[in-house]
Amino acid sequence: MVEYSDSDSRTLLKRLRDTLATDGDGQDRLNRITHLIADSLGTQVCSIYLFRDPETLELCATEGLNPAAVHRTRMRLGEGLVGRVARSGRPINSADAPSEPGFRYMEETGEEIYSSFVGVPIQRVGEKLGVLVVQSKEKRSFTEDELYGLDVVAMVLAEMTELGAFVGGENAEIGTTHRFPVMFRGATGQEGAAEGRVWLHEPRVVVTNPVGEDPETEQERLETGISDLRERIDEMLAQTAIIDKDQRQVLETFRMLAASKGWKRRMSEDIAAGLSAEAAVEKEQSSARARMQMAPDPYLRERLNDLDDLSNRLLRILTGQGTDTGAELPDNPVLVARNIGPAELLDYDRKLKGVVLEEGSVGSHAAIVARALSIPLVIHAGRITSEALNGDPILVDGDQGVVHLRPEESVAHAFRDKIAMQAEAQKRYADLRDLPAQDLSGQEVSLMMNAGLMADLPSLYGSGADGVGLFRTELQFLTRTRVPRRGELAALYARVMDAADGKPVVFRTLDIGSDKVVPYMKPQDEPNPAMGWRAIRVGLDKPGVLRMQLQALLRAGNGRPMSIMFPFIARPEEFYAARDILWRVRDREAQLGRTVPEELKIGAMLETPSLGFATDQFYADCDFISIGGNDLKQFFFAADRENERVRRRYDTLDSAFLTFLERIIARCAVSKTQLSFCGEDAGRPIEALTFAALGIRTLSMRPASIGPVKHLIRRANLNELRQVIQSARNEGQNLVRPAVTSYLAHL
Ligand code: PEP
Ligand code: MG
Repeated sequence: MVEYSDSDSRTLLKRLRDTLATDGDGQDRLNRITHLIADSLGTQVCSIYLFRDPETLELCATEGLNPAAVHRTRMRLGEGLVGRVARSGRPINSADAPSEPGFRYMEETGEEIYSSFVGVPIQRVGEKLGVLVVQSKEKRSFTEDELYGLDVVAMVLAEMTELGAFVGGENAEIGTTHRFPVMFRGATGQEGAAEGRVWLHEPRVVVTNPVGEDPETEQERLETGISDLRERIDEMLAQTAIIDKDQRQVLETFRMLAASKGWKRRMSEDIAAGLSAEAAVEKEQSSARARMQMAPDPYLRERLNDLDDLSNRLLRILTGQGTDTGAELPDNPVLVARNIGPAELLDYDRKLKGVVLEEGSVGSHAAIVARALSIPLVIHAGRITSEALNGDPILVDGDQGVVHLRPEESVAHAFRDKIAMQAEAQKRYADLRDLPAQDLSGQEVSLMMNAGLMADLPSLYGSGADGVGLFRTELQFLTRTRVPRRGELAALYARVMDAADGKPVVFRTLDIGSDKVVPYMKPQDEPNPAMGWRAIRVGLDKPGVLRMQLQALLRAGNGRPMSIMFPFIARPEEFYAARDILWRVRDREAQLGRTVPEELKIGAMLETPSLGFATDQFYADCDFISIGGNDLKQFFFAADRENERVRRRYDTLDSAFLTFLERIIARCAVSKTQLSFCGEDAGRPIEALTFAALGIRTLSMRPASIGPVKHLIRRANLNELRQVIQSARNEGQNLVRPAVTSYLAHL
């Protein structure tokens, strides 16, 4: 091998590019390319291995090895030196390959006479496509420059592979990994199953010109691109009024990274070696992703993640490709994204069949919206945005938190059976719609639904709910860049009540803070926001918004009976203070000549254990109490409801928790205070039945849960179940679930 310079690299890249323009099928191109690379680097062997399937590499072209081995020699990911390069995404450079650990001799290739070996991965933004190998007889290590040159060549090959340049002829089966089935195991954001086609929220950037014509022009393009990028970041930062602290921090980091000399220098070197400006950005992005996968330190990973985002923005500037590619939304779209904001998700309205996110959390705003729209949502789905292409078939299993991308027919078949079974069950539940949730002993339970959007209301009739037991009012605040106006809110609440057509609706006042951060409120730097300045605490400290919301509610009621409850009451005084504000608002409205409700029920949400021990007077003073089980359970067991590691750790049917609930039930019975349960557990049939057996006779849940819960209640005897629960506890069982399930098994 002779010394290898930037100008050699540029000449080689241009020759590679020219092969793209020539006629011939994918195999011809690959053959020509291996020849060109071997020739230009002065090595005896150059081979290209591409993935046949996600686990198998295949020798697709070679200069120097036995041509009969092409398409015959295959290795598993991780097998031999080639497999190791592919798996690690890092090069191997060895003067004496046969003595390397893991070396595997492929007899049919005739490679035994070649001592030195360099393999570099062919990969594009973290996606593995193949391996480029050069070998020569003499024992020698390749220089840094030579390795770098190969890396640049591999980048161009990656782009060509992505563009489908090598497909055709004998390569019909290989060349891109975007054809294979992949399964992603994530976490449940919202239950439900959906089959559809991928719709990428941010489509991938396509680089059609990996090779630069003239390094100076490319250098200028890069400079202009970076300065555009910096200007855009500055503009975003200038809008400080509407961005929160986290966003600000991200932008500050972006600004710092965009000014990073190292980043720019590396890209300039790539351009000098012959890449176009966009290919240089992508090469750096690829190596940042590879480092990200290796980085043990979460802080470092976060920064590399920022760099990844920044590279995407720069790529969009350089290629002029926005997020709108003009592609048409498929009929049954499943949205695939790194993450998405609640307003963006709402923009899609009900068109989406499912949502799959790489990031996200169960309590994120997007998850709240997905839940409100009843769209199956899987979060933490690996690197699905690099794998999925627009239009790919996809199955979303929100119950298991699993996603099948481009599924095998057998998987799709089984999945369809599951969806059909669920639909069948829903049909059976629909038959129960107009029947009461009455147990075998004649006791009736009121099943209400939770809602948060006007769009939820049609479910009131479809599900047969007795009313809306919890109307969460956060969404209208979370999805705007400013506080919604009183008039807008009043109109919405009025429409909700109109749609309920006399059935009760329990409005909960704003529960922001914690995970629900509104963009226009100065964010608080709280180490533990779920226990921080949230819900009624914000409402009482800054009563302006609370007052406005209460006015909107009363105006919407326009004299009709109303129920309003305050979230996250931890002490009776908080309830009294909030109730005073409501009374004052009501009196003022009356003075202004507006019709106020004659029947105004005011309730508290019991979400902290402290309220279970509040005075009798407090219980007597509440018109109703609604147990917010999601919060109550997290504080009862001290287990963060957002934390995947602990959120399922404690069972709701724990004897201690049920004993606590019984205490509340007994106290409400004494004071004749209406009691309901409106956390997620109310929608889980076994939990719901247990609550009913203990004496909670109003349950509020997702509309889709009403059928299954009613079905179970109608088959059970609440008195018997209550006995079963009591005996289990008397026998010292700390968990009553086994007793409950064995009772159910005998129904
Ligand atoms: C709860 O905590 O159970 C509840 C219903 O409120 P949210 O889930 O909105 O906090
Ligand atoms: Mg709550």
